[in-house]
Amino acid sequence: MTQAYPNTNLHIAGNWVPAIGGETIDVLNPASEECIGKVAHARIEDLDLALEAAQSGFDVWKKVSPMDRYKAMRKVASLLKERIDQIAVILTQEQGKPIQQSKGEIMLAVDIIDWFAEEGRRTYGRIIPARMEGVMQSVTKEPVGPVAGFIPWNFPINQGVRKIASALAAGCSIILKGAEETPASTAALVKCFADAGLPPGVVNLVYGVPSEISEYLISNPIIRKVTFTGSTAVGKQLASLAGAHMKKVTMELGGHAPAIVCEDADIDVALNVLVDNKFRNAGQVCVAPTRFLIHEKHYNNFVNRFTDMASKITVGDGMDSSNMMGPLAHNRRIEAMEGFVSDAISRGAKITTGGQRKGNKGYFFEPTVLTDVPIDARMMNEEPFGPLAPISSFTDFDSVIEEANRLDYGLASYAYTSSAKTAEIIGSSIESGMVSINHHGIALIETPFGGVKDSGYGSEGGKEGIEGYLNTKFISHKTL
Ligand code: NAD
Repeated sequence: MTQAYPNTNLHIAGNWVPAIGGETIDVLNPASEECIGKVAHARIEDLDLALEAAQSGFDVWKKVSPMDRYKAMRKVASLLKERIDQIAVILTQEQGKPIQQSKGEIMLAVDIIDWFAEEGRRTYGRIIPARMEGVMQSVTKEPVGPVAGFIPWNFPINQGVRKIASALAAGCSIILKGAEETPASTAALVKCFADAGLPPGVVNLVYGVPSEISEYLISNPIIRKVTFTGSTAVGKQLASLAGAHMKKVTMELGGHAPAIVCEDADIDVALNVLVDNKFRNAGQVCVAPTRFLIHEKHYNNFVNRFTDMASKITVGDGMDSSNMMGPLAHNRRIEAMEGFVSDAISRGAKITTGGQRKGNKGYFFEPTVLTDVPIDARMMNEEPFGPLAPISSFTDFDSVIEEANRLDYGLASYAYTSSAKTAEIIGSSIESGMVSINHHGIALIETPFGGVKDSGYGSEGGKEGIEGYLNTKFISHKTL
């Protein structure tokens, strides 16, 4: 049975409403390029209402005990779990990823809400021994205030839930700007919060012109915290604006993950994990392995087998469960892939499989493997954010570490080695927020998730995730 794709309204002060001006934006299915629905387009007057709602939502929610917040959030998680099948279809229709990956993203979101619900009960303060009798020195944690969150289209549920759940667990309210390309799945997530009976204004959802919304919300005094996931270029703009208004910030930005396969690596494990994670979500993942750096002993074998595995990936509409990779999210990504590939070819790179748009309808691009890509090629320096795998060889361990650290990005890194000593050196010498060795072990909600250098700051997981939404207050009380 085909499920109709829903139009999306704004969610402000507990109500689902069209934009005051009645404007909408078209939503396309990236597998067919057909317009499947519309999303309400907020302007300043809508944002003013959202700000007012976020302030009154915060005034109520900050006083709800962590135990009651926990109960409400657990209810949200249960609702989301009940709705997985229906929301997964919406997600695949608007974003393109294979239906099984959509279900996986929603299951992960259930886990994230549950985990933050629990973590909100552990925002402990402390007592500091005083220097004199009769003085009590206490440190407490308080919610920072209404949050403005901005998310991209690659994981409309996962990116949204990390921001909403951590904000709510800390006692904050939020105005989330979803991605205009993928509005209905984020709205379905927000609907679970609304249907669980959260007070109006605690979670608000808007769409519109990204720069218009971010500039207005970040500079408004009601907003006390800014959290953004997206490109480094936009992140730097938003971080500067937040800095000018002294707002707390979490920035989860681009990456260019090195994947090092050492001489003593288990090649079967490395190939299986790396191919899977390179092409998941059509490579549109900030922590996707990107620069494949393979010891010369394994290079030819690795290239041949990686190429063979990539060429067997079935590409097509994500609604057909036999397809392993869906389309890219929008036409700009196709243009970006074509640009990266032609630039690399013009500099002497060779394609071992793929390299082109697939078909002429839908934003499909072939899983692409390249060799001999020179270090000055664009794809070796800019985040490709798509199904491109440039593979290079190395001989010397120090030089591969230098290559891994060459870029200003520092989000995720991967390495394969059977030596504990090598693993230890890699773990300590790589400049990135996350290092995973011999498996793809990042992004679990109980572990910190975030980058260093141009990949941003702050964390969206682990106890660090909730810290970003809390202020520390010191109270010194002398009993009279
Ligand atoms: P883009 O930079 O225009 O947009 C990326 C995301 O940021 C979109 O969701 C967009 O709505 C949002 N955005 C853009 N300008 C904004 C602003 N001024 N204020 C608030 N939000 C804003 O580019 P794109 O073509 O959609 O994607 C291209 C690049 O974005 C990719 O190459 C990748 O580097 C990056 N990206 C990163 C992630 C991630 O998970 N880190 C996700 C999606 C895109």
